[in-house]
Amino acid sequence: MSYDPLIDSAVNPQESLPPTYWHDTVEVPSGTALNKDIETDFLVIGAGYTGISAALALTESRAGSVTVIDSHSPGYGCAGRNAGFVLSGSGRMGPSALEKRYGLDIAKGIQNEYDGAVSDLLARISAYGIDCDLAAGPYYKLAHTAKHALQQRRSADYLKTNFNQQIESLSQDQLKKALAVEGFYGASRQPGHTLNPLKLILGLSHTAQSKGAAIYSATPALKITRGESNHVVETPQGVITARTLLIASNAYTSKVLHPAVNKRQFPVQSSILVTQPLSKTQLAAIGFNGPVSMMDTRMMKYYYRLLPDNRLLFGGRGEVSARQAHAGKARLYDAMLTSFPVLRGIDISHFWSGWVSVSLDNLPRVNFDNRTQTGYAMGYCGAGVSFANFAGRRLAQRAMNQPVDLNLPLYSTPLRRFPFAGLRRSALRALYGWARVIER
Ligand SMILES: Cc1cc2nc3c(=O)[nH]c(=O)nc-3n(C[C@H](O)[C@H](O)[C@H](O)COP(=O)(O)OP(=O)(O)OC[C@H]3O[C@@H](n4cnc5c(N)ncnc54)[C@H](O)[C@@H]3O)c2cc1C
Repeated sequence: MSYDPLIDSAVNPQESLPPTYWHDTVEVPSGTALNKDIETDFLVIGAGYTGISAALALTESRAGSVTVIDSHSPGYGCAGRNAGFVLSGSGRMGPSALEKRYGLDIAKGIQNEYDGAVSDLLARISAYGIDCDLAAGPYYKLAHTAKHALQQRRSADYLKTNFNQQIESLSQDQLKKALAVEGFYGASRQPGHTLNPLKLILGLSHTAQSKGAAIYSATPALKITRGESNHVVETPQGVITARTLLIASNAYTSKVLHPAVNKRQFPVQSSILVTQPLSKTQLAAIGFNGPVSMMDTRMMKYYYRLLPDNRLLFGGRGEVSARQAHAGKARLYDAMLTSFPVLRGIDISHFWSGWVSVSLDNLPRVNFDNRTQTGYAMGYCGAGVSFANFAGRRLAQRAMNQPVDLNLPLYSTPLRRFPFAGLRRSALRALYGWARVIER
């Protein structure tokens, strides 16, 4: 991966598409770059789930003219690179952490939004007829220590009682009967879904276009200034004047883009490898065969699932900077063998990385300033397939002055600014070193 948001001023529109497994399953249509000056009511920066979902909500409400620009193409960011787990939740705080910080009522309100995000996404996929290999299957959270297994059991009870979640806990023996993964002490199991994330974003973009949104590829926002009653956005071949500006560039936001978002999120890499298709013997040995998704309880989590053509997708934290991205491949391969020793020697067909947007307090935000008509949604901390889509809808609602529950900190407070922003990478290096020691 060559783009580094903390170093480069924008994604290079000429950069090749990322070498993901998803890009071998569907062609990204060649888009058009903006090549003249235009005016628009709503300008959305970023054609990932957040931006396209906002554009869809705006066009469906006939709120005015809608333009989306992307530095590269729809799905170039995380939307076309993720693992395709559709789960309820975002940020890095589960319900009990939310309760500790905000109290039970607010925690319930936030969880309600996360649950609603999943239903909303499934409803949109069905309503727009998007073929994105959506499949329902269990989601396992695997406890990597005995202490975490105990926590998982307590957490399952807590989620059932207080948050009405469909969840069960499994002892080590029950887990062994369900799956043949090695090295875990128990698990929780919930209903989940998996999909092809690139097919999803391309389907959503196509729908937004058919409803009247203008989407430009290879059109990075290079400079944004505020006029008297509008925003003036410079791109390589045209200037856009917009009444309302919605920033949906997530972790791909460059270091300096707009005061509303500068230094308010931290781009961190996540990497994925995909194996060659597993043989019948290997499939029997790993003990699952279908749309099952899994994540462990480590601080630096690993996540995995089987793909429709029986390849194993295995992901985890990436390296600290774009320059080092490739070094993570061997580390991920070794981690995969710890859980699946029977796969020793299997060839890797794909390896890629993407930037996830981490917020200072582990909670994403959808923020809109009525006075300046500027909004953004980001900070999903690597969990955004369902919630980024929902956040885009909420962002559009706020831009249209429609009611949104402003009692929830998701919507009522801005992303917090990182203090000593220049030291973020050094702090991350130290954190990874610490995690290596305690999670050996
Ligand atoms: C490896 C990996 C695995 C993941 N797995 C999962 C998962 O299984 N489940 C889950 O829920 N979440 C997962 N995520 C997170 C999820 O993909 C993201 O939260 C989600 O895609 C965010 O969507 P978005 O639209 O906000 O941002 P993005 O999809 O990142 O889109 C941002 C867009 O903004 C554009 N852009 C940036 N700057 C500019 C500019 N100046 N001008 C114009 N355009 C610009 C970029 O080109 C990009 O296309 C994963 C992420 C990664 C990297």
